[in-house]
Amino acid sequence: MRTSSTDQAQTQQRLVDRFGRVATDLRVSLTDRCNLRCTYCMPPEGLDWMPGDEVLTDDEVVRLIGVATGRLGVQEVRFTGGEPLVRRGLVSIVARTREVAPDAELSITTNALGLARMAGSLAEAGLDRVNVSLDSIRPDTFAEITRRDRLTDVVAGLEAAADAGLGPIKINAVLLRGVNDDQAAELLGWSLERGYELRFIEQMPLDAQHGWSRDTMVTADETLAALSSAFELTPAEEPRGSAPAELFHVDGGPAKVGIIASVTRPFCGDCDRVRLTADGQVRDCLFARSESDLRTPLRAGASDADLAARWVTAMAGKRAGHGIDDLGFLQPDRPMSAIGG
Ligand code: SAM
Repeated sequence: MRTSSTDQAQTQQRLVDRFGRVATDLRVSLTDRCNLRCTYCMPPEGLDWMPGDEVLTDDEVVRLIGVATGRLGVQEVRFTGGEPLVRRGLVSIVARTREVAPDAELSITTNALGLARMAGSLAEAGLDRVNVSLDSIRPDTFAEITRRDRLTDVVAGLEAAADAGLGPIKINAVLLRGVNDDQAAELLGWSLERGYELRFIEQMPLDAQHGWSRDTMVTADETLAALSSAFELTPAEEPRGSAPAELFHVDGGPAKVGIIASVTRPFCGDCDRVRLTADGQVRDCLFARSESDLRTPLRAGASDADLAARWVTAMAGKRAGHGIDDLGFLQPDRPMSAIGG
């Protein structure tokens, strides 16, 4: 995170909830569309995409980011989706975000298809770093999970991102039982050789098909056991803060691996995240059952102060936890791809 006195002078309010958590990390979904069809995310035929007129324009996205960073204390902006690289105008959105938020950390979560072509322009536009999703380095397993034979594009995208200085590069992987759960150590070895920081994310009930099951998901404990058969893992000593990943040094360090155990070891008490969907809805949690509409007031001519006030109100009611373990847990109506992962 970069900070400066200008940043502090502009911040008049904070996105604080009734438990005292302060949101400073904004995830901005730029589209719900994606060019992969990961089995744990969406069906093979894709989804009914948002109508174009419902999606925020580039101007609207940049304006709302300006409100969040200029008035509400947001310090990190992560572009996501869907697949953010398929959003036409992405490079310009990044450049304009850099103008309105010179001190914010700007990153992107991407499947890296097309990143080989775009990494240089994104870096020039002011992007700081990338998180790339990659669940297997075996072409057949990659194609089985994503339903697309595009592993070489992802690898090229990673290399281009490193060349463009978009590091530290993090890789996010989801393990699926009977598909790639035997490949955890292999993926870690591959990532370490290339200087990428790998993090395993537990599969969450956010798929459009509602196919998630607690009985079949691969847990953090299982992942750690699989990694420990090939590497020596020691818990990293640095304070975790609001970071979702629990970090472990690999073979004495400095290399690290992360585990994001959203299901079996939730970290909601330290959450500092807020989400803006591609159609201009604020979500205080991935698993929120309700959203707060900023697009309607924005298009009706609301001032920045009014939008900021609505955003503050939207965050105040954030629940203590995501509630996956609650008896009455209901999966959110929107899937991960439409919320922004
Ligand atoms: N398309 C971009 C990408 O692939 O990184 C950004 C959006 S994608 C929804 C963001 C992340 O969410 C990816 O790392 C993906 O693996 C993860 N993801 C999607 N569905 C998930 C689920 N049900 N449980 C856990 N992670 C999931």
